[in-house]
Amino acid sequence: MREYFSNIWSGLFTVLVGMKITFKHLFEPSVTIQYPDEKPKLPERARNRLYVNMDDCIGCDQCSRACPVSCIEIETVKALPTDDLGKTSQGKKKALWVTKFNIDFAKCCYCQLCVFPCPTECIYMTETYEFSEYQRDSLNYSFVTLTPSEIEEKKDNFAKFEAEKAAQKAAAAAPKPAQKTDE
Ligand code: SF4
Ligand code: SF4
Repeated sequence: MREYFSNIWSGLFTVLVGMKITFKHLFEPSVTIQYPDEKPKLPERARNRLYVNMDDCIGCDQCSRACPVSCIEIETVKALPTDDLGKTSQGKKKALWVTKFNIDFAKCCYCQLCVFPCPTECIYMTETYEFSEYQRDSLNYSFVTLTPSEIEEKKDNFAKFEAEKAAQKAAAAAPKPAQKTDE
């Protein structure tokens, strides 16, 4: 009988010890938030989804070369002498059409190594951290602003320009016909 009541007391005591912690936290400010209605305040240097401001991108490829997992794909086409691509917001002259700028966030490890070498500071981390997708391919973002037809046009124009230049060079290098001399 004595052991029976001792077990009841032991059980009650264990519950009371646990409840002591619960009661203590009942009267303290809560540390949890009602996510997703409330969003946590991110630390100053939090690493989230990248963004590329294509108006300032000069297509130098430095971000892509710095990426340890090769998740940035860039393709460019040289501008023709007659093209005017304008300047970046920092006054750097643009000389390349960026025809492809993809970042595959399914591979990205958010190391931020692509951000530091950018000479125009146009690739940077944003505050967006909720961008899950059902399909892995949907995480491959394209930042290019040219339309597919504009991209084809730039490629064709440059190919024609190169062909004309090569033809002119070949014509200049060809041996000239011998001149007739009067005897
Ligand atoms: S954050 Fe890191 S892994 Fe992601 S694109 Fe930049 S360099 Fe590559
Ligand atoms: S380093 Fe900057 S300017 Fe160069 S390609 Fe990358 S985003 Fe564009």
